[in-house]
Amino acid sequence: MGEGSAKSILIAGAGPTGLALALELARRGLKSRLVAKATGPTPIHESRALGVNARTLTLLEASGVSALILAKARRLTKFKISSVGKPLATVETENFRSHYCPIQILPQGETERLMLQKLSSFGIAPEWSTELTSLSGDVKKPVITLQHSDGRAETVEPDMLIGADGAHSAVRKAFGFAFPGNAIETRFFLADYRYAQPVDTGFIEMNFLNPGVLGRLPVSEDTLRYLSTQEDFETRIDHPAMVQERTWSSEFKISFRHVETMSRGNVFLAGDAAHVHSPAGARGMNLGIEDACWLAWLISEGREKDYSSLRIPAVKTVLKDTRRNTAFITLKNPILTGLRSLLLPVVTHIPAITTAFLRNAAGQDTPPPPWIPGAQ
Ligand SMILES: Cc1cc2nc3c(=O)[nH]c(=O)nc-3n(C[C@H](O)[C@H](O)[C@H](O)COP(=O)(O)OP(=O)(O)OC[C@H]3O[C@@H](n4cnc5c(N)ncnc54)[C@H](O)[C@@H]3O)c2cc1C
Repeated sequence: MGEGSAKSILIAGAGPTGLALALELARRGLKSRLVAKATGPTPIHESRALGVNARTLTLLEASGVSALILAKARRLTKFKISSVGKPLATVETENFRSHYCPIQILPQGETERLMLQKLSSFGIAPEWSTELTSLSGDVKKPVITLQHSDGRAETVEPDMLIGADGAHSAVRKAFGFAFPGNAIETRFFLADYRYAQPVDTGFIEMNFLNPGVLGRLPVSEDTLRYLSTQEDFETRIDHPAMVQERTWSSEFKISFRHVETMSRGNVFLAGDAAHVHSPAGARGMNLGIEDACWLAWLISEGREKDYSSLRIPAVKTVLKDTRRNTAFITLKNPILTGLRSLLLPVVTHIPAITTAFLRNAAGQDTPPPPWIPGAQ
């Protein structure tokens, strides 16, 4: 264990990133303090992320979380692509050579609860309803005021401050990290439907509406998510069973941004605090967990200074991939959408292309974790 062992570590945020960080530190014998403004983990029915990729399962194996995820998650066996309801292509995940299926389906709220369960075995629990309200000092010696739910204010001066406090990160803003990038004009809409009986949860479908797209993603055995760029998308859903309830709906715009450096002095950023992008490709939560695992490893080695230079290339890769995926599914030009319909049935039969697509989905296009022998 490196010199980091004696340092006090404050993690702001107990989303997937903060939880994974606390867990990866704890299993190496390093204690951290985890605080979150939220009152608890993500409600199951408002789970943003649904996909846990193979890289995340590799990373969370040592803590025992992967076994818990695999016991609950659903394997995704197919990616189906269609155009105005007409099938264009299917990519099977079964032929992908990897220890894990590229993507398993488990709502984010459940993944967070499994991490909480493992964390509790190390005697660590997040302090919920605890907000960082004032951040002063400098990046060498940050001074933080924590506002507790009982009205008590507490000032702390951690040796290391980690901002895992989401896209609107107070840590990022307070300690002068630039967050360049841009928002795209396209609005996205989502609705989750629970059905009266179980539905097929083995596949994801992207149906190009030309213009626009309607995605169908499994959530749980009787619930599906529909994601679209078209406001009237719910009129175009072909429900597979009788609808019991519309459990969640939301609307959002997408930005592509990342910090230029993920650490300054003793202040570190991880997860959405450091990078935001489109959900196309199901990378956000997984990338945050990956940041967390790298940072915990580097802290345990006393090499946290290397964190930013090792992670920024991975962040850039994922942002580039998600930008490309988003541009591809949101094409508007009729010539390009026509070409897409012509080419997809052909290119999805080229093994090099489907392998690259599945590697991407599996999260294996970023450097493998050096501390896990043989990791993909
Ligand atoms: C529609 C949609 C679908 C998505 N689908 C996927 C998917 O399939 N796969 C995938 O990998 N990702 C997906 N994502 C992205 C994913 O949800 C996020 O990337 C993920 O939640 C980021 O985790 P995080 O822990 O970094 O941040 P968050 O989950 O945002 O957690 C932030 C934490 O910080 C706390 N906090 C905030 N401010 C403060 C403060 N001032 N003081 C103290 N605590 C604070 C919050 O309470 C919370 O605990 C999707 C996102 C959307 C919008």
